[in-house]
Amino acid sequence: MNFTELSYKVIQGDLCTRCGLCIGICPANVIKLGRDNYPVLDGDCQECGLCVKSCPGAEADFQLLSRQVFQSDYLAEDIQGHLENMFVAHAADEDVRASGTSGGLITGLLIYLLENKIIDGAVVAGFNADAPCAIRGILATTPEEILNAGKSKYCISSSMDALQLLRGKKGRFVVVGLPCQVQGLRKAMAVNPALAKKIYSVFGLYCHCNMEPYVQLDILKNQNIKPSNIKRFNFRGGKWPGGFHVVGKDGNGHPLHNTLYTTILNVLFKIYGAPRCYLCVDALSEFADISFGDFWAQDYDGELSRYERCTIVSQRTTRGMEIMQNATENGAIISHRLPEKRYSKRIINMARGKKRRNQARIYRMHHNGQKTPKYNIPITKPGTKTRFNDLILRWTFLFRGPLARKLLLKLLFSPAAKTFERLNLYRKRKFCNYHGN
Ligand SMILES: Cc1cc2nc3c(=O)[nH]c(=O)nc-3n(C[C@H](O)[C@H](O)[C@H](O)COP(=O)(O)OP(=O)(O)OC[C@H]3O[C@@H](n4cnc5c(N)ncnc54)[C@H](O)[C@@H]3O)c2cc1C
Ligand code: SF4
Ligand code: SF4
Ligand code: SF4
Repeated sequence: MNFTELSYKVIQGDLCTRCGLCIGICPANVIKLGRDNYPVLDGDCQECGLCVKSCPGAEADFQLLSRQVFQSDYLAEDIQGHLENMFVAHAADEDVRASGTSGGLITGLLIYLLENKIIDGAVVAGFNADAPCAIRGILATTPEEILNAGKSKYCISSSMDALQLLRGKKGRFVVVGLPCQVQGLRKAMAVNPALAKKIYSVFGLYCHCNMEPYVQLDILKNQNIKPSNIKRFNFRGGKWPGGFHVVGKDGNGHPLHNTLYTTILNVLFKIYGAPRCYLCVDALSEFADISFGDFWAQDYDGELSRYERCTIVSQRTTRGMEIMQNATENGAIISHRLPEKRYSKRIINMARGKKRRNQARIYRMHHNGQKTPKYNIPITKPGTKTRFNDLILRWTFLFRGPLARKLLLKLLFSPAAKTFERLNLYRKRKFCNYHGN
């Protein structure tokens, strides 16, 4: 097993998620980030096979992963994966909460674990000081570094490359990643006991889809903003829930649109969505100790409708429970357990929709003789509605040319987008049973 095999099976087969794990795991340090974050060989491969065995691109056996992490079989009918509890929570410190995406919970938990010497650092997706649009994996070992790496980056970040920084380091670490990164990390932990020993916990993000790593540059170009004139590009900058936002060299923030960020994101996911994301069936980081997403209080009535600016949490393992409980008792986070009948319908629908749509694509592509990822779960013939949705999605790919992207970006970031947003909201309320809890 060597890089040539990885390249043939995964990268050339269009199955690479660009998670960065092969770079992080290669003991010879001969894999580097190439164009658009695809890995390339840069040196002599020692044929240890670690990259092939850990890569989640072509294969992530959910049965094996479930037995490894939960000591139980994977049940495909459990839409949210193995789940023990759900919480709605936020960082107790207002500055930490404001520096995060939803409730700043991940940032709050990491700082709590670090300050209490439970961990020695965390692998997170950080900003690159030299290139405001480039995201990179970093090993954060101080609360400042963790704070600075807060907020979601809705683009391919390949942040697992920072696992190479754990080599030769003593201590225990948390790794934060997207569902595909969590799958790869778990595979790597199974074949590399030295790495497994260092991982205190695996935090996963919910992930509906992700975008090409050059999306920020395209947006800035479309807005006539020179990357060299800004300090940072945020996908969720400004006042919560935030939106696409730049911070100038003077430290002042400027929003890039006057609509909800979700209006922009839903269109951008269609025209910049990474192809491999349309073959991905894990929306909720099903193999993490804890996974995190946006809690939308507007979906609820009663007491829960007051918990705006919070993170929704899927706690899956004993380690996950220990972290949530101890951080709450310590006062680092404020958390409330969600009763089972109040689990978020939005999250369940999102996960079910992603699974159905992408399984339909896998089914079609497999039957057309194209390469598809293997999850060792039943992939059944899709129904008419799912096939229709898949067809609509394929049509949206027609808008991926430079001219179509340019026009859509102009529209989305113009005042006219507000009208589009109102029409879309009307459509969702009228036809899509919007706001379900
Ligand atoms: C690509 C993407 C898609 C998402 N899709 C959904 C969704 O459909 N529904 C939903 O409810 N939530 C989704 N989320 C999660 C959501 O945006 C928040 O990250 C989550 O609610 C946690 O918020 P927080 O305030 O607790 O985290 P924060 O305190 O802001 O911490 C976020 C942590 O995640 C790390 N991180 C950020 N971006 C990336 C990245 N691209 N790759 C790896 N690590 C990263 C940061 O370094 C930081 O440590 C998505 C996140 C991403 C990155
Ligand atoms: S480990 Fe990740 S980045 Fe490397 S080839 Fe596999 S999917 Fe791509
Ligand atoms: S991980 Fe091993 S097999 Fe893969 S490129 Fe590095 S040396 Fe080669
Ligand atoms: S959609 Fe899947 S493959 Fe794409 S970034 Fe998210 S977890 Fe990874």
